[in-house]
Amino acid sequence: TAHQQVALITGANKGIGRATAEQLAALGMTVLVGARDPRRGEEAATALRAAGGDAHAITLDVTDPATVQEAARLMEERFGHLDALVNNAGITGSGQVAPEDALDQVPSSVDLDMVRAVFETNLFGVITVTNAMLPLLRRSPAPRIVNVSSAAASLAIAADPDSPLADLPTSAAYTPSKTALNALTVQYANELRKDGIFVNAAAPGYVDTDMNDHKGHLTPAQGAAIVVRLATLSADGPTGGFYSEGGPLPW
Ligand code: NDP
Repeated sequence: TAHQQVALITGANKGIGRATAEQLAALGMTVLVGARDPRRGEEAATALRAAGGDAHAITLDVTDPATVQEAARLMEERFGHLDALVNNAGITGSGQVAPEDALDQVPSSVDLDMVRAVFETNLFGVITVTNAMLPLLRRSPAPRIVNVSSAAASLAIAADPDSPLADLPTSAAYTPSKTALNALTVQYANELRKDGIFVNAAAPGYVDTDMNDHKGHLTPAQGAAIVVRLATLSADGPTGGFYSEGGPLPW
């Protein structure tokens, strides 16, 4: 039988992750809807199946290595391989407040425990999940990893006062966590290039989700487009890059 393509998306119960799952399912992939809350994961997977997709909820909290290991074990048992890993789960650290408004993230008065919590999810969680899934990815003929980053992560943009994006939020938590995620993306890409595993960072744009209290101007489907593109790259690559739907972004 033909190789059945399998994708795991973390934080896929809503927002950009859910839209990514919808689009990958529409392309014919089996999608594993990663969610830390089993009920919310099951709801999303049920909706995806109702739309004709092959979707399965998988319980996974990226900050809880035991749940990640258990997810990998179940995937090993049921599928035996993984073709696309989308590290999408993320938090701002500011509850329902958009990073754009997050005065609680200004470096001079930030709560260090909040910074730690944001890095725990947005950076360390990616290492936990990626390393747990690599044995499964290595059994794919064309393994792809996408780290969902942000244009705000770009040091080149943030440090350029003339850039149209230079007025992005001042943040000592969310933004540095995504800059570090970009750095991690390059390190993984360099290690895994020889194995044919492509690793890229995606900037979805400013997307209407709970994360920014629905202030974003793009739909989740529009934000997911670059994520899906990088999750389904052909053998030409690229790897080790940072892309928005409009093209490459400066680091
Ligand atoms: P949402 O808040 O809508 O979705 C975030 C998802 O991540 C939810 O499913 C949430 O689960 C999940 N999540 C959070 N923490 C964990 C955890 N510890 N383990 C597992 N899942 C977790 O936000 P978006 O869809 O907007 O964000 C998705 C990604 O896109 C994030 O990485 C974000 O930083 C990035 N991004 C978003 C932008 C935007 O404008 N919206 C812009 C740039 C980047 P739960 O429902 O349980 O909370």
